Amino acid sequence: MRLHNLGFPRIGTHRQLKFALEAYWQGDSDEKALLSTARQLREDNWRLQQEAGIELLPAGDFAHYDHVLATSLMLGIVPSRFVQSGQSRLDLEFQVARGQSAGGCCGQASDMTKWFNTNYHYLVPEFEPQLAIKVDCSPLLAQIEEARALGHEVKPVLLGPLTYLYLGTYTGNKLELLPQLLAGYQQIFDALNRDRVNWLQIDEPILGLELDEGWKKAFRSAYSQLRQGQLKLLLTSYFASVDHHLDLIASLPLHGVHLDCVAEPTDIQLAIDILPRHWVVSLGVIDGRNIWKTDLEALYQKLEPIYAQLNGRTWLAPSCSLLHSPVDLELESDLDTTIRPWLAFARQKCQELALLKQALLSGDTRAIEDYSAPVRDRLQSSQAVNPTVRDRLQNLQSFTRSEPFDVRKSRQQSLGLPLLPTTSIGSFPQTGDIRHIRAQYKRGEISRDQYTRLMQQEIESCIRKQESIGLDVLVHGEPERNDMVEYFADYLEGVATSRFGWVQSYGSRCVKPPIIYGDIQRKEPMTAHWLSFAQSLTDKPVKGMLTGPVTILCWSFVRDDLSRDQVASQIALAVGDEVQDLIAASIHIIQIDEPAIREGLPLKRSQWGAYLDWAVTAFRLSCASAPSEVQIHSHMCYSEFKDILDAIIALDADVLTVETSRSNMTLLDDFRDNAYPNDIGPGVYDIHSPNVPDQEGIKRLLTKALQVIPAERLWINPDCGLKTRTWPETEAALKNMVASARTLRAEL
Ligand code: GLN
Ligand code: ZN
Repeated sequence: MRLHNLGFPRIGTHRQLKFALEAYWQGDSDEKALLSTARQLREDNWRLQQEAGIELLPAGDFAHYDHVLATSLMLGIVPSRFVQSGQSRLDLEFQVARGQSAGGCCGQASDMTKWFNTNYHYLVPEFEPQLAIKVDCSPLLAQIEEARALGHEVKPVLLGPLTYLYLGTYTGNKLELLPQLLAGYQQIFDALNRDRVNWLQIDEPILGLELDEGWKKAFRSAYSQLRQGQLKLLLTSYFASVDHHLDLIASLPLHGVHLDCVAEPTDIQLAIDILPRHWVVSLGVIDGRNIWKTDLEALYQKLEPIYAQLNGRTWLAPSCSLLHSPVDLELESDLDTTIRPWLAFARQKCQELALLKQALLSGDTRAIEDYSAPVRDRLQSSQAVNPTVRDRLQNLQSFTRSEPFDVRKSRQQSLGLPLLPTTSIGSFPQTGDIRHIRAQYKRGEISRDQYTRLMQQEIESCIRKQESIGLDVLVHGEPERNDMVEYFADYLEGVATSRFGWVQSYGSRCVKPPIIYGDIQRKEPMTAHWLSFAQSLTDKPVKGMLTGPVTILCWSFVRDDLSRDQVASQIALAVGDEVQDLIAASIHIIQIDEPAIREGLPLKRSQWGAYLDWAVTAFRLSCASAPSEVQIHSHMCYSEFKDILDAIIALDADVLTVETSRSNMTLLDDFRDNAYPNDIGPGVYDIHSPNVPDQEGIKRLLTKALQVIPAERLWINPDCGLKTRTWPETEAALKNMVASARTLRAEL
């Protein structure tokens, strides 16, 4: 039996990679310093895993920015707008990831998108018609060499050719590119052979999807063409079961396969029966994406007969790369002492594997019984169950608003808004001052009263600026929010926040997902005091700003002893309570942000319907108590709706604001012929860029929008929140937006 790992968090226990990257980008350090931090992190990671008991360590799972981007660079697949002479490989990597360099403009960054159903983002490979492959796998070889020099036994990790191809963009049929791509992979295989690599982990997570015949055929032909030499291939997939593709997998020339046994119920016995008798079967039995301590005793009972059957062919691993897990629970000295023993982060997950192996080899289960006791405690803990919440959900009478959109719309005339109303998405620039005030308060350097006064000053200045810009619906600007989920988590019972539980989201960006361990209920009003203050300053309507139940769920670590839809309903009730408090505070427009609905989609399309049903139900529940006069907005930051349009319509928000400017409003094609029935605000400028959009450009986009959406239902707003922008950019851009709205109104 062997213990291995598919990948380890790259950011470091104290987010060293983040700080090293940012120092490099700001010109405060040099390439040498960054590379040396990266090297040190790899060394630390290997040591951590080895000391925990992992026997076969991953190499090549590390990336400076993103492993899909690293694969593109290894294959020499770089958009031609970046190929220049002179820049180092590292700078090329960052140019593709982040757009123009300090030294000159090299064009727009490659698109970034979510890695399957996680909150990790990868850089989308761009395939150009003559896929010019130029393999350079020296960074991978160097990592292998580093690990060997430290005395480790390593298993290199490579993103498989089919998944890599699947994830990229191409104007034609992507499978056309497979022959060239395979030639590149062959060169990598040859290099690994020359390097005497034994096992190679080849990641093909698209096997969790329902693939069409073309892709299945491509799997067969690709893997039979690749000459493996001495390499032994361990094919890995994760985030979903591959029960539906077992015959396909069994037909490939492999030496082993890794199964995610956690994401979905997986029939291990079926896999053993179908897969060739000589293959290694790696069982991903420790959840790589959540933070709960594993019930090793229960797992032992399940694995014991399987282990006996597979004998030496059993490998054990976390379900997926630990990239999606925080690094080390040891650092969490401030966590509630009841909750802490319930948890395991990446390092502890490796230790769990070692304990499990010991028990399976010796048959002595005392150590795992002791270890697993807190898991039982959690499942029986009174802290996890709140009868009031359960009763409330049981006895719910109304799940949706009482009147249909048309009726609500006419009642909302009382808001007195003009045609083509202008608004923003919620946040305004988070200045250094604002961050400083929050940090001082957190460190206890200023009192609650001082903090409140300082924040109120920020809110007041934000309101005054919006008034002078001339917006119709104002916001308070969200200065008090560090993060749109963590802010709410702090006000919710049943939710804990860690101090160092960071997980990489993209590049240097990390998120710290809250931990939902028990039934959820508000401790006290969460936003109403800020909003009522903001509304007291102005005669214009101020829009209240909440994060929706599905987004809070998707961006948290969620308890595994209650179904996700139940947890979402509990959050919806808490958000609904806040809606009521906002209304009581004279807030008559409330936005409930749901940017995460799309990423919560299961991998298999056949499961989308069930997910969307409860996701929509949760959103509707969160605003069910709002009377018809109150206008409910929602916002989503993506511009691809076609395949989930029915669900978006079913949310039944009075106003939906979405990102569209980067795609030049192509999204509106989906909205033709009144396909979307309620009010909509397609974003008119990209908030990711410091460029100030001009009036003409905005007007052009709006004219385009008006061809599809009647003026009575069109709103005017930016693509997303403005927290990452500066005030001068923001004021200039919004003034142009308001001016375009005014000229357009005059022309209508
Ligand atoms: N209201 C949030 C903001 O303006 C929305 C952020 C988001 O869509 N991710 O920042
Ligand atoms: Zn957004």
